Amino acid sequence: MGGAIVHVSPRTLLEDLDFAHKLWSELEGAPMVVTGVGLEPHREAIASHCPGALLDFGATGYGAALMLLGVGEVVVEADLWPDACWETLPLARSRRLPVYHGRGCVHGCDYCPYVVGTGREHIVRSSERTLREFADQVGKHRPKRIVFRDPVFGLDPVSTLELLRGITALSKRERAAFEVETRPELADDEMLDALKEAGCVELKLGVESLEPGPLIATGRVADEVEADRYVEAVEKVLRVADRLGINVRPFVMTGLPGATREGEERTEKMVGAVAAPIVKATVYPGVGLEGTPPDRSDQAEQREPEGRR
Ligand code: SF4
Repeated sequence: MGGAIVHVSPRTLLEDLDFAHKLWSELEGAPMVVTGVGLEPHREAIASHCPGALLDFGATGYGAALMLLGVGEVVVEADLWPDACWETLPLARSRRLPVYHGRGCVHGCDYCPYVVGTGREHIVRSSERTLREFADQVGKHRPKRIVFRDPVFGLDPVSTLELLRGITALSKRERAAFEVETRPELADDEMLDALKEAGCVELKLGVESLEPGPLIATGRVADEVEADRYVEAVEKVLRVADRLGINVRPFVMTGLPGATREGEERTEKMVGAVAAPIVKATVYPGVGLEGTPPDRSDQAEQREPEGRR
């Protein structure tokens, strides 16, 4: 066996640890991660049942997956990634063409699936490399839209601004409308102006929550001070992007650890004053569902503001 992840609940602690102990002795040196919400006070009990096992007390267990995969150690020469070959896998009717500038992310949001695949490391291409692919693919395939698939566009602001200036200077035949996805603090005034100039028509904005409790509990921000700054950043991005005419698709999450019904409603209302949010209901191991609003993902999909402007 290459390794194992064991989810442990404080409510069934001894039973779960007995199971973990048996598994641990069968792993013959392969790594094991014990994960679960609310396990912090039980460190000693876990260590005595499974001495040497790795521990992840994050809300989702994704941290455990990262420990086991060790994906952060992968070294990649980003400028050598090949261009996608759309000649063999034609674009669908919507003709949206994905391009990357960077992959992975250094932030610590515990619910994030991106980093499980790509690591908590940001690997960014040179702006010249991404610009060359952007221009080539647009010239060859005439997409309706380029979709930047970076999980956090603008994480390296210097190279991103260089890239946006480069796109702005391309000829008409090499340019296409594009969309990006990012977190609020990165979309400052300079970045938003540059996005608009370069032809960005849509900003997918990971808001998730405006409550300090869930923001801190999931590692989205470090503390209350950062949480306050985060809320200010969200308000500003929504206002400025709206003024510039960039369509905003804000994403919010319900059911995060530490969330309250009132806080979730406040978040949705504030974000919804500018753009209908895409709502994702989440379920976390060990987090009670009582008081969590029902899953409205389906409705949210229907409310997507695509083509609003
Ligand atoms: S900022 Fe986005 S990509 Fe980065 S860890 Fe958080 S959710 Fe994931």
